[in-house]
Amino acid sequence: MEYAVISDVHANLEALRAVITNIKGRGLKRVLFLGDAVGYGPNPNECTELIEETSEVLLAGNHDWAVLGRTDIEYFNEYARAAILWTETVLSEENRKTLSQLSITKSLSEDSLFLVHSTPKRPEEWHYLLTSWDAEVNFHYFKERICFLGHSHLPFIIEKLPSGEMIVHKEKAEIKKQESRYIISAGSVGQPRDHNPKACYAIIDDVHVELIRVEYDIEETQEKMMRAGLPEPLIERLERGV
Ligand code: ZN
Repeated sequence: MEYAVISDVHANLEALRAVITNIKGRGLKRVLFLGDAVGYGPNPNECTELIEETSEVLLAGNHDWAVLGRTDIEYFNEYARAAILWTETVLSEENRKTLSQLSITKSLSEDSLFLVHSTPKRPEEWHYLLTSWDAEVNFHYFKERICFLGHSHLPFIIEKLPSGEMIVHKEKAEIKKQESRYIISAGSVGQPRDHNPKACYAIIDDVHVELIRVEYDIEETQEKMMRAGLPEPLIERLERGV
């Protein structure tokens, strides 16, 4: 098994291109996308198309569902809501169709991987998995050994030992054969929130998993957002990584 796992691109084309260049530079050919192609950023069409071109599995996230009218945007904050309304005006019919065909979970049984945007437990409710306790509950809702998820934009690796003990790894972990199980948050390509503004994604092979950070041209994305009239707080948070 050898995959790059990307999530939460949020229409940030500069970040997505930088990550794809990094993935190709490592010789990785198989890319999995965990949802939220659109929302917040200025290039929803280009990002949807580039994700479709590069990823063999694509999931939908809550922002993708919001722009399709499948999820209520009342619970979005005012800036996220404004970005969804803007995205609705620019997203092409073809890309709407692409997003509308995506599921919200996927099992890759040959590699014992479970993929989801939010949480294995009730994925359509878009809860956040943030703590070891959340992980403990969610380990019961998938049968595969390893779960990859997005949504929180906070990268981490939670390992559950056969004893039941949980270990949180910040950057990388060994994948021990047949012993531990894992929940891995792949972070966000287009809007990291862990106070590190660099784009984030994950790589996994048979022996290890690692969270990778990639620099990209944040100012370019910010200028495009300004020209599009997207909300100032969304523009400004990119340089702080929050
Ligand atoms: Zn997101």
